[in-house]
Amino acid sequence: MVSENAPASGRSRLGAYRRALPWWVLAGVGLGAATGLGLHAAGVRPEEVDRWGLGVPGDLFLRALQMVVVPLVVAAIVTGMSGAGDLRRIGRLGLWTAVFYVGTTALSVLQGLLLVHLIQPGRGVDLSLAGPVPDDIAVQGISFGDFMLGLVSQNPVGDAAAGLAEGRLLPLLLFCVLFGGVLSTLPEKTRAPMDGLFSALYEVMMRVTDLVVLCTPVGVFFLLLCTFARHGTDPFASIGLFGLTVVLGLALHALVVLPLLLKLLGGVSPGRLARAMSPALLTAFSTSSSSATLPLTLECATERAGVPRHVAHFVLPVGATANMDGTALYEAVAALFVAQAYGIHLEPSQQLTVLVLAVLASIGTAAIPSASLVMIAVVLSAVGLPLEGIGLILALDRLLDMARTTVNVWGDASCAAIYAGRERRRTPDAVGPDPVVDR
Ligand code: ASP
Repeated sequence: MVSENAPASGRSRLGAYRRALPWWVLAGVGLGAATGLGLHAAGVRPEEVDRWGLGVPGDLFLRALQMVVVPLVVAAIVTGMSGAGDLRRIGRLGLWTAVFYVGTTALSVLQGLLLVHLIQPGRGVDLSLAGPVPDDIAVQGISFGDFMLGLVSQNPVGDAAAGLAEGRLLPLLLFCVLFGGVLSTLPEKTRAPMDGLFSALYEVMMRVTDLVVLCTPVGVFFLLLCTFARHGTDPFASIGLFGLTVVLGLALHALVVLPLLLKLLGGVSPGRLARAMSPALLTAFSTSSSSATLPLTLECATERAGVPRHVAHFVLPVGATANMDGTALYEAVAALFVAQAYGIHLEPSQQLTVLVLAVLASIGTAAIPSASLVMIAVVLSAVGLPLEGIGLILALDRLLDMARTTVNVWGDASCAAIYAGRERRRTPDAVGPDPVVDR
């Protein structure tokens, strides 16, 4: 028989689990990686990982996150835009976000370029190690015109139905920004039903997200188990210096540059923000997909870090699709690595082209695993470097994807927290209690 206080104690156990969730997720990451490495060391082959169905729980978790993304993000942006008040406020937020995103991405690429010159990871690389480049990666590149055309949705419903895989999230988001912005200008009576509908959709999707989030420790355990069982750390042995350059660049950006900006521009404690965002950061590490992580990023920012909804709902979805500091750094370092490996000297003007292209390409990179590879092909062909160079970095791509996706999500969260911190300083009464922003 169930005792009378069972539901209450069940609830409090769930509450305790929720509070300790970052630690559970961390345990999932650590145990998953260790078990995967153990299986790899024991000689388990990738086909066996698939045959034993070890990939299924992680893929289920990933699918559940992907299921939430489109409705959650549409509702978040529309309510965020519509609830932001007047258009001037929306304009300020939009301008700040654009400047911060492009500025920090460019900074990140600069750090990567600096390190690639210092470390010279491509010198003396054995070119015979290059694997074949898959056909779908070896594209000839897209023009600036195509890039601009790709930003405007021809059919928002079709884009929403396409989901995450085809990289059609950005035009959908821009449509939602327009929709929510125009909605905010309508008279209260006309606006109210739409506001009600999208607010209700948002609440429902947040609760669904909440259920998925509870499974994060198990999901990340299996995702990491499979990644490390399949790849081990072998790829580091052949092109380890390239991996080291990327990881150092990412660490510099995530642990020095962004924390300085958090402190100086927003008065935000980087440590406290990192703790609040840790479930999202660890999920980004495990899934290698910023867009699949977006439901967690939104939940951690609004529920744990106290970023106001009207800020988080705009800054984070746009960031997940268009702001990729880690990806831009990786794409630039990869291009210079290929140049060094093939002994091709790049003039300063060509390196500037790499910098600009890496920033633009990162905006166009789909927020899914290994999407960078396609954009690296674009950068390589733009400066006349051999596309076969991609074959050199293929083996390490999946492992580095985990690190760069984490930095991508950290960059988005930093932008939202800094804006929230500044807004709080400007109008201390307008924003509620905020556990992250220093008082
Ligand atoms: N996996 C990255 C992301 O989702 C994109 C990439 O760099 O491949 O943010």
